[in-house]
Amino acid sequence: MNCPNCGAEFPAGAAVCPACGAPRSEIDRLLRTAEKAVDRAVETGAAALNRAAKELEPVVDKAVKTVRPAVQDVARALKPIADATVQATKDVAKAVRPAAEATVKVAKEAADKTVAAVKPAVEKAAEKTGEAAQKVKEKVWKR
Ligand SMILES: [Zn+2]
Repeated sequence: MNCPNCGAEFPAGAAVCPACGAPRSEIDRLLRTAEKAVDRAVETGAAALNRAAKELEPVVDKAVKTVRPAVQDVARALKPIADATVQATKDVAKAVRPAAEATVKVAKEAADKTVAAVKPAVEKAAEKTGEAAQKVKEKVWKR
């Protein structure tokens, strides 16, 4: 333990402080005074905290009540934006669809035209190939 009068180390069995000479009884009295002061401070602090909490409660309630409509307003304000985003996505899909369909149509038409253009040539080639094959067969058979 330390002497509450001078702060020096106070030996447990000593009757007086070896540093400042304060008697143990004086030290006990000082310690009890200090203890009481600490108790009072704790009591005062706890009471002050309770008082502060009680005073803050309505303030917090009021703050929550004040903030709640704002939060609801924000939610309400955001809903049309969210709805608009969904609608815009649908609109884009709707707008893109005819273009996609037109692209498919154009591609199909191009393919049809290509087939139409190539078909006679292919048929002619097939015909000539068949004729050539026939000639080859005839030559072989004649042997
Ligand atoms: Zn002392």
